[in-house]
Amino acid sequence: MRASTLTVVTIVALLLLVAAPETAIQTQETNTHRLEEVAEGVYFAVGTGSVFVMSNALVIVNDEDVVVVDSHITPAAARALIASIRTITDKPITTLINSHFHYDHAHGAQAFGDVQIIGHEFTREKLTGDPMNEHTFLTSKARFDRTLGRLEARLANVTDVTERRELETQVEFNRAHVQATQEVTPIPPDVTMSDRLTLFRGDREIQIHFFGRAHTGGDVGIYLPQDKVLFTGDMLLGGISYLGDGYVGEWAQTLQNLKQLDIDLVLPGHGPGFRDLERIDYVQAYYRDLHDGVVRLKAGGATAEEAAVQVDLTHHGDTLGVNQAGANLEAVQRIYALLDGTAE
Ligand SMILES: [Zn+2]
Repeated sequence: MRASTLTVVTIVALLLLVAAPETAIQTQETNTHRLEEVAEGVYFAVGTGSVFVMSNALVIVNDEDVVVVDSHITPAAARALIASIRTITDKPITTLINSHFHYDHAHGAQAFGDVQIIGHEFTREKLTGDPMNEHTFLTSKARFDRTLGRLEARLANVTDVTERRELETQVEFNRAHVQATQEVTPIPPDVTMSDRLTLFRGDREIQIHFFGRAHTGGDVGIYLPQDKVLFTGDMLLGGISYLGDGYVGEWAQTLQNLKQLDIDLVLPGHGPGFRDLERIDYVQAYYRDLHDGVVRLKAGGATAEEAAVQVDLTHHGDTLGVNQAGANLEAVQRIYALLDGTAE
C-alpha cells in the first residue's frame, strides 16, 4: 500500500514536471503582499492586510532592471512593497510610473529613492502643486484620525480580554498608518508625457498610454503588448470608480479609446484583475447615463443635492449593483462644478 502510493506520487510528480512550462507562472506571498505572476516577470502586487497599502501595484521584472507602477499610500507601504520585490529579484528598481496623482497611488514614491518617476503632465502639475491639501487626501486623513480616536476611546473602556486584544490590534494598525502618513513628502514625476511613451527593456515593450480624461485629468494605462496586460489605475475598475475628481462626461469616450488595445487581462488600481471586458461596457453606460441624467436635472432647476437623490440609474442594477435611485453626491457636485466652470 505504502509503496504503491509512493509510486503514484512519483509518477504524478514526473508528469507534472513534464507538463510544466519552461517558466512556470507563480505567486509569491510575503508577510505584506501577494505578488501574482500574471505573465513572465510581470507581477500584480496586492496588499494582504498587515500594512495598509490601499491600492494595487504592478511589478515588471526585466532583463536588467525592475519597473514598478504605483507606490501605494505611504512610504512605509512602499517599503513593504520593495521588500516583497526583493524576495523575487535583486535587480535594481530603476523606474516608477504613476498611474495618476491620487495619494493612495503616489504617496509612497520617496521610499524608492533615486529612481526615474514617469507620469502624465497633469500628474506632475498636481504633485508639484499642493498635494497635502488635495481634498481626497484630506478626507482620507480625517477619516483615519477619526477612526483611531474612536478605537482608542473604546479601548480605554473595554475590560473583556478577547475584545481588548482585538481592539489593540486595530489601534496598532490604524496608528501605524496615521504615523506613516506624517512621513509623506510627495515626489512629482521627473519625466512627463502627454499622449504616449514607450519603454524598451530587452524584448519587452512597456507602453504608457493617455486615453483621455477620466478619473483625473491625467490617468495613464500601462500596457504590455506581448502579454496583452493592461494596468489601469483607477480609470477602469471592476465597478464604478471614485468620481470626485473625474470627468464623467468624457469618461465613456476615454474608455472607448482604451478598448482599441488588444486586451487579455485588466489589472485595476483597486480590486482583483479581470478578463471579462464587458465590464468596460457596463461602466461606460453608467457614466454616460449619470452625466446625461444630471445634466437634465440641472437644466430643470434641481440643485446638486436634489439631483443626487433623484437621478435614477437603477437600470444598472444587474450589471453594477445599482439597486436604488440616486448617485454619489460628490460625483454629482463634481459634474455641476464642471458644468458651472467652477472646477477644471
Ligand atoms: Zn484614484
